[in-house]
Amino acid sequence: MNAQPAYLLAIDQGTTSSRSIIFNELGHIVSVAQKPFRQFYPQPGWVEHDPLEIWETQQYCIHTAMTKAGLKPHQIQAFGITNQRETMLLWERTSGRPVHAAIVWQDRRSSALCQRWREQGHEAMVQERTGLLLDPYFSGTKLAWLFQQNPALRQRAAQGELCFGTIDSWLIWQLTDKRDHVIDRSNASRTLMMNLSNGQWDETMLALLDIPQAVLPRIVNSVLQPGEICTSTLGIPITGIAGDQQAALFGQAAISTGIAKNTYGTGCFMLMQVGNEIRRSKHRLLSTCAWSQSTSDGRLAIDYALEGSVFVAGAALQWLRDELGLINHAQESEAIAASVADTGGCYLVPAFTGIGAPHWDPEARGALIGITRGTNRAHLVRAALESIAFQSAEVLLAMNADAAEPLKELRVDGGASANDWLMQFQADLLGVTVNRPVILESTALGAAQLAGLGCGIFENVQACAKMRQTDRLFTPQMSRDEAHSHMSAWLSAVERTKSRYANA
Ligand code: ADP
Repeated sequence: MNAQPAYLLAIDQGTTSSRSIIFNELGHIVSVAQKPFRQFYPQPGWVEHDPLEIWETQQYCIHTAMTKAGLKPHQIQAFGITNQRETMLLWERTSGRPVHAAIVWQDRRSSALCQRWREQGHEAMVQERTGLLLDPYFSGTKLAWLFQQNPALRQRAAQGELCFGTIDSWLIWQLTDKRDHVIDRSNASRTLMMNLSNGQWDETMLALLDIPQAVLPRIVNSVLQPGEICTSTLGIPITGIAGDQQAALFGQAAISTGIAKNTYGTGCFMLMQVGNEIRRSKHRLLSTCAWSQSTSDGRLAIDYALEGSVFVAGAALQWLRDELGLINHAQESEAIAASVADTGGCYLVPAFTGIGAPHWDPEARGALIGITRGTNRAHLVRAALESIAFQSAEVLLAMNADAAEPLKELRVDGGASANDWLMQFQADLLGVTVNRPVILESTALGAAQLAGLGCGIFENVQACAKMRQTDRLFTPQMSRDEAHSHMSAWLSAVERTKSRYANA
């Protein structure tokens, strides 16, 4: 480690806000800047962002974080970039002008296309090549939709006039003043266009999606030496890049096989590090690139992960607050849940936008069941919190079934992981220890650490892992019998939300 103070700036481009966090070489936060931006919902199921607003808010955050810390660009050793992952953009190579709004990961407009490919029997091939499923979530399906709607754009793309990218590509394009068109391998692994085994664009997938290769960025590692891609116009090299969930996995020190983290935010994202071999799920979890780097002898080393996501987690609390007016702040939910002994037998399944892993039923819709005349506000609030833990437990059970050995500990982060009651209930339900770190900003920390590795501030991944400090351990208190009966009641509630019941 350097004797001089070293600073790393994490560019954390999220779904609802842009942020920048400066860390010192010990992994401590020096300053934070955040700016929200607008969400556009042009049609039901569609979600868009303004690419220029993303860049402007991110620029503001970079400069504000430096000003708050009293640092000049030459005092920052490197940028680490982490971003909302499957959101896609398309812009003109010469002018840099976006030709369309950013189509956000939540956007479902490519649903019919995915359905058609599934009906044509492509899903097994897609899973084998990409580790993913045919779902509108993934960015390549959104680009395919755009080209189908507007074939002239496909034509221009084939002639090399347009650039496709995820948010990391867009930010690097801007940071380097249009000199570099790249994507990191963890982001590329979410496009449905990358071959998961060799980490390169996959021609069969490009043919299926009808996307010309000329539009695609160059795939680069998540850990980069200075000079591997162009230096930013501020003179700060970009030496770390990863999708937000992968960066959080790294920030949680999941550097060896079998360590998993769950991020409790609007949704929940659980990832387990599985090492240098792809682990194929038998339970409809995703296989994905965690991060990639060059070994000392110049070989490509890809770390893989298994992933399962929950679409509505903290968002269930937002629903209680904004639509039902049952709470004023998400934070209140903790005391309210603890004020009753149980939910009185009621279960909330917040399948507002379908259910994700391991069910993947886009047509499922939410349900509140088991209510009686005695069901009150506290029961409902407790049921909403429990739903976060139940859904996460389902993903973890699927992961355990796919993994080499069962998980012993779950590392947690994200806004709702601050809720002690929820974390205790999660430990009780799973029968494993829940481990919460001091720094809940694992995503930004992970991006800064990847950048620190690239620019040589940190010697190796072990040095990064040592920075993680535990704030609190939640150990299981509930009997396994009680946990199992809770879980089976939940599962029967979920069954009732599935679309085949709605269609019956
Ligand atoms: P994101 O990055 O997805 O925007 P955050 O990690 O900032 O999310 O977490 C915010 C989410 O967590 C919101 O949905 C909010 O309802 C929920 N949340 C925040 N604090 C708590 C809490 N103490 N208990 C339960 N949920 C919470």
